[in-house]
Amino acid sequence: MKVVLATHNPHKVAEFQQIVASTRPDLEVVGYDGPEPVEDGVTFAENALIKARAASQHTGLAALADDSGICVDVLGGSPGVFSAYWAGQKKDAAANLELLLDQLRDIGDPHRTAHFTSTIALVTPEGAEHVVVGNWPGRLAPSASGGGGFGYDPIFIPDGQPAGQERTVGDFTADEKQAQSHRARAFAELVPLLAIL
Ligand code: IMP
Repeated sequence: MKVVLATHNPHKVAEFQQIVASTRPDLEVVGYDGPEPVEDGVTFAENALIKARAASQHTGLAALADDSGICVDVLGGSPGVFSAYWAGQKKDAAANLELLLDQLRDIGDPHRTAHFTSTIALVTPEGAEHVVVGNWPGRLAPSASGGGGFGYDPIFIPDGQPAGQERTVGDFTADEKQAQSHRARAFAELVPLLAIL
């Protein structure tokens, strides 16, 4: 059985396929090359559902879609759904990260708490809709560190690291990140729901 993943990003398709294969080897995750809907939701769940519904309608298959970002407590949860565009429509990851660091320049370490979040929507052609969420708590570093990952990884320090040895996700290996990320946590919530397929 096929399930379509509403993304043009082949890395995400491979990541989902790997997760799904361990519990549901009969499910084949395929990429989506149909029309992209306007993501005009103001919550992660709305945007994930918009993308999953469009992919399911276009393909006639069950569809998965994810929407993710970083939420900073002292900014009331921003950048949130605007994470990709925080410094403007150019989707410039370096500019986004610099702007966020600048906005928190005078905020001390105890108040720099934040979390990465990932929401995954599952929509079937019969109209069933499910949404799961994974959060990765941590705080923002005072400056960028590490060349790994993407987006805000170089300024995010996940909780739970030994004192004095804390690293940003930019300093993590890909495997370290995949073992504990917001997306991994959302995937874990998703797996039992795949039973409806
Ligand atoms: P999307 O849901 O893949 O479109 O991600 C939205 C935006 O959130 C990205 O452009 C990044 O700015 C940010 N983001 C989401 N997940 C991550 C992550 O794992 N690391 C760093 N930034 C992320």
